[in-house]
Amino acid sequence: MTHNEKLELLKQWEWKTSAYSMVLAVLSYDKMTVAPAAGAEFRDERAAYLSGEVFDLSVDPKIIALLKDLLEDPETDAETKRKCECYYHDAMKIVSVPKEEYVAYSNLNNASYNAWYKARMENDYAPFEPYLKQMIESARKLVSYRHSEKTTYDELLNDYQPGMDIEKFDKFFDDVEKRLVPLIKKVVAAKPVDTSFLTQNYDVDKQRAFMKRLVKYLHYDEDWCYLGETEHPFTVTICANDSRTTTRYIPDNVSSAPLSTIHEVGHAYYGHQVDPKYDGNILGAGMSSGIHESQSRLLENYLGRSLPFWKPIYPVLQELFPEQLGKVTAEQFVDAINASSPSLIRTEADELTYPIHVMIRYKLEKGLFNGTISTEGLDKTWNEMYEKYLGVSAKTANEGILQDVHWADGLFGYFPTYALGSAFSAQFYAKMREQIDVDRLMEEDRFNEITDWLKENVHRYGNRYDAEDVLELATGERFNSEYYFRYLEDKYTKLYHLK
Ligand code: ZN
Repeated sequence: MTHNEKLELLKQWEWKTSAYSMVLAVLSYDKMTVAPAAGAEFRDERAAYLSGEVFDLSVDPKIIALLKDLLEDPETDAETKRKCECYYHDAMKIVSVPKEEYVAYSNLNNASYNAWYKARMENDYAPFEPYLKQMIESARKLVSYRHSEKTTYDELLNDYQPGMDIEKFDKFFDDVEKRLVPLIKKVVAAKPVDTSFLTQNYDVDKQRAFMKRLVKYLHYDEDWCYLGETEHPFTVTICANDSRTTTRYIPDNVSSAPLSTIHEVGHAYYGHQVDPKYDGNILGAGMSSGIHESQSRLLENYLGRSLPFWKPIYPVLQELFPEQLGKVTAEQFVDAINASSPSLIRTEADELTYPIHVMIRYKLEKGLFNGTISTEGLDKTWNEMYEKYLGVSAKTANEGILQDVHWADGLFGYFPTYALGSAFSAQFYAKMREQIDVDRLMEEDRFNEITDWLKENVHRYGNRYDAEDVLELATGERFNSEYYFRYLEDKYTKLYHLK
């Protein structure tokens, strides 16, 4: 086979795979937004069939041989090589797993999700515990087929964040503990910031009206995106020019929907602004979780919680809600959306305490996989850690160990990428401020020039490089968590007038 023939084969295979993936992505968006529940079984069965097709396609021995061949072929250019490496790496994760093992795992996964759901209804950890135990055992078993020298948890961490392992995350979370836990204590002791006006009654239709103005301000354009509504907001990128984002309106919380939308729009821009030649292949969509999260958090926290961001649009919000916000200045509003206070629920946590929620999950996962922590009594271990690091303790399982779906769904090693993403953003943000006048652009309603910077320096690379390489391309430096800690220290020292 000539080199060009090999490339042609690869292209055909990518085409077929991306056709299936596109259908599955649309189905999943549909399922979580508008699809009637009664049709779930019919849809899920067909979707499972399609997933099986994708599985077969990705471990097809002919394709694995082709990928190997292209990787060794001296004519293969660097970009194709990167693609083949990513495909090959993904295939190797599953190729040795016996099919019946895979099916058994996916059945267990469903049962575990259902058990978690039921446990949440009963607000009791006990019925979920045996499933969690089995899920951990299954994860261990599936990883064992990779015949890797690394530990199971190292492998899992690397799945979501290539290049990361226990050693590197230990170092990162040690710093999180050393730098942020004392800072949080000082904030707790300081005079609280007034947030009472955020949680009055805010008519949802008026919130929707504000959202129209907000997405316009973000230059989030209906030509390539759609904003739907759901219970737990998420974003699905179908292709660069088809992004499906969601939001949720809470009647007694005015900042939740805007901030969560800004977050999701950050994800959407990343998918939209990749180099068009990567659209439809693994270089356009296979970015690591950490770097994806860095883009959503950059928009949500670093930009979306700043005064310059709100200057042009806060008057619109005030006009919609004169009773609630008429006397609240933009400065007071922004201080309120940055207020910090230790709480129990991760997804509602503020920017400063958030990484502690993640650190706790990391410590628990690490212990569960190295055998120093058991699933029995894990709800108590959970509470002890919350007490130790945040000074709060869950009174019910739903406020504690049952709050996240991740473990029920077999997503072990995923949580740490949330905190890492925030830390990556700080480094991008520092460089961005050096190169463009971020505050003025926001004040002058020129948000598109900020997303242009992101396109040029981060987004266009897609998955062409690993996260740390993109950090280096954009900022001239490998990952340096110092930017993150200093950002939080500066911000909260000022906000709470700390000494
Ligand atoms: Zn996100």
